[in-house]
Amino acid sequence: MSLWYRTDAPTYEAKRSKSIIHPFSVKGYGGLTINPYQGCQHRCAYCYATYEWSPDFYDKIYAKSNAPEVLEKELAAWKGDTIDPVMVASATDAYQPAELKYGLTRKCVQILQKYNAPYYVFTKSSIIERDIELHARYSRNCLVVWSITACSEKVRRVVEPGTPPARRIYQAIRKFADAGVPCAVNVDPILPLVTDTEGELDAIVRGCRDAGVSHVFGAMLRMRGDIWERMKAVLALLGVESAAERYRQLYGFKEPLNASYVSCDRQYANNILDCLKEKVRRAGMSTDFPDHMGPKKIDRSSLGQTTMLSYT
Ligand code: SF4
Repeated sequence: MSLWYRTDAPTYEAKRSKSIIHPFSVKGYGGLTINPYQGCQHRCAYCYATYEWSPDFYDKIYAKSNAPEVLEKELAAWKGDTIDPVMVASATDAYQPAELKYGLTRKCVQILQKYNAPYYVFTKSSIIERDIELHARYSRNCLVVWSITACSEKVRRVVEPGTPPARRIYQAIRKFADAGVPCAVNVDPILPLVTDTEGELDAIVRGCRDAGVSHVFGAMLRMRGDIWERMKAVLALLGVESAAERYRQLYGFKEPLNASYVSCDRQYANNILDCLKEKVRRAGMSTDFPDHMGPKKIDRSSLGQTTMLSYT
């Protein structure tokens, strides 16, 4: 696995996929997901998706060039009358810079809309602004969830060096909220001793409220062997190497960490998450996932018609 903390641009390569829509399950929650890309230029040190894909996850981005066509075929042949909300995307950021070159996410979203499939986009990019009109005309059936982990630029530059600053994300959210698109923020992962301070959580919640976010939720970092190696480097770069021992206590492991996943101490995590919820409620926002995101009747009335796919 390459280090996340590099400034080199990744290389891009197109590849073809046999299937695009897949079921997923995380912490007891399941649904459907599409990933138009493999790999991610956002280079988050805590990224959970690095395990599942290539060892050059941050440095080589594969574009699934036939993703829109495959998605259309899969939806046309969908078994059943309803379809669950589709997560765009679970193992990559669908609006990372590669999207400006390939436009696969935009095309896939157009296909989802054609079949009346509900979807929620998870992103930490401002590139999604290009598609604001596309999402706005489908606002009853979609949700955009921005992932914001730190308002501190010192922390963001180390932890997720390929992402825009939080203030830039809040500008994008404001535009979407003003256009009537439901907007949520996922404060995930919260990094113990790095982003779980009162000041950092206050700054995130304040930014959400001012940008017009309606729902804010979050989760503590889950630890895994490769993530721990990167997190030790994060702590060193931030000048808090001494926090490493506290991490080993909070996650209950000894070096080397081989376990697939370990969770943060329950009481510590609950204190932080309760604190976040309290701040969100006091700011007049909801801590739940929006309930307009449920299964919808799939619409095949335009079957056989060509989908007009466009980048603009
Ligand atoms: S944006 Fe998501 S997929 Fe991309 S590196 Fe960060 S956590 Fe991983």
